Amino acid sequence: MRRGQVAIYLLMVLVALFLVALLNVDVFDVVRGKNRVQNGGDAAALAAARKQGRLLNEIGKLNIAHLVAAAQDDARTCEELTMEQRRLALLGPVEALRLANHAAKKNDMEVRDEFAEILREHVAEIRLVYSGGTNEEGEPYPEPYPGAWTEYATAIENVISEGLACGPDNVEFYGAQGGHYLLMKDFYHAIAGENWCWFHWHAEGLLNSYSSYMDWSPLPTRSENSMENSEIFNLHVRAWKGAITDLLSTNEIQHICRTYGDGEIPQEQLAESVILTNRDQVWFLFESERWGRWFNGLSLADEEDGYEFPIVGEIKPEYNVRGCAAITRCIKEVESVALESTSDVVWAAGAKPFGTVENFEGETDVVTALSSFVVPCFTNVRLVPLDSVGGEDLSTADYGWVTHIRKHLPYYLEHGPVNAQGCFYCLQLQTWEMKHFRDGGIRWIKNYAGTCVRPTGGGGGGHGGTSHGH
Ligand SMILES: [Zn+2]
Repeated sequence: MRRGQVAIYLLMVLVALFLVALLNVDVFDVVRGKNRVQNGGDAAALAAARKQGRLLNEIGKLNIAHLVAAAQDDARTCEELTMEQRRLALLGPVEALRLANHAAKKNDMEVRDEFAEILREHVAEIRLVYSGGTNEEGEPYPEPYPGAWTEYATAIENVISEGLACGPDNVEFYGAQGGHYLLMKDFYHAIAGENWCWFHWHAEGLLNSYSSYMDWSPLPTRSENSMENSEIFNLHVRAWKGAITDLLSTNEIQHICRTYGDGEIPQEQLAESVILTNRDQVWFLFESERWGRWFNGLSLADEEDGYEFPIVGEIKPEYNVRGCAAITRCIKEVESVALESTSDVVWAAGAKPFGTVENFEGETDVVTALSSFVVPCFTNVRLVPLDSVGGEDLSTADYGWVTHIRKHLPYYLEHGPVNAQGCFYCLQLQTWEMKHFRDGGIRWIKNYAGTCVRPTGGGGGGHGGTSHGH
């Protein structure tokens, strides 16, 4: 090798080394930023879920106090207790958002206006539409109690005014929710990635039958959720009107009072009470379609592992994914030295309160009863995988997504693909609208569907949140 060649070779090595060093600094900064935003997001979700557990326990304790007051035929106390439960279900989770924000700020998360923006718009809607009494279909937005909507709007406003360093991702606005491909983020991502396996498993019928935007059924305009719940970090409880003796046997009532209350109710009180059999009493139950499987049914993961039922006692939290959860999103700006630019690192984390239901030995009917009657059984919180708690499609703190759902979709359904500048989701709809794109997918599935691996669901294995950021 000649001298000149060696010199050039050495120079190249030096340049390469320099670049590696530069990149390392950069990678280090990005990783540190990621760790920070993860810590912030996780702490926020845990703080909110902890509050959810406390709220459910309080609602459960009031349920038991209600049993005792009902047995004593104390109508006034019964009414006061129900009122207190209604306030907790509606306003309590808003307080959970405040606590989540404290946790995020403690972890150095920045206040971002995009989190506040969505809620600010919604507060205006509560004041105008909810309080106005009816939605677009002329259906009413009944107040859970007199003055509730005003109190609720003010509570949210107060949290916003402190500045939001995390956004609530699982907000379920009463306006529109769920059950439509256009409201599923996975649908758009499948188009973007030409993930035909996703279509094969989830939407092959749609792919085969679709011809244009006019085929879409209208977006759901009204959720089935009862309006006792806060839309933010929904507890998924419901105020059930009926005779508690239609739901619980006297044995079950005694068991609940013994296990979660101060002891038994004297038998003669139970037998003589008028209020216990009164059909106008309101009791707080777990919303069955949200909680049913939590206590006495199968979750997807359980089915695969062949779990037996009814489940009694300690349930492995990672299998126990039903109920309520808090999903929070944090964003942190990270500086990239090498690229001389900044980028946002996004982290969404989900956490959920867990508990154990005490049960009569051998009396499985109590399990059925307890699966709906709220009792104070929540003892801890854990981080949970987002797809196990429905985080992905509910991400309300994702400003781009919410804007797409609320502003772009209604236009698209009337006029076809929208040219909304820079909206990722609108871009995918433009692709979806092209016949040759869909035909390509149909052909692919015909030839290669056999290579698709069925998604197992659950995902993540219980170790914290899944990042949905880019
Ligand atoms: Zn859009």
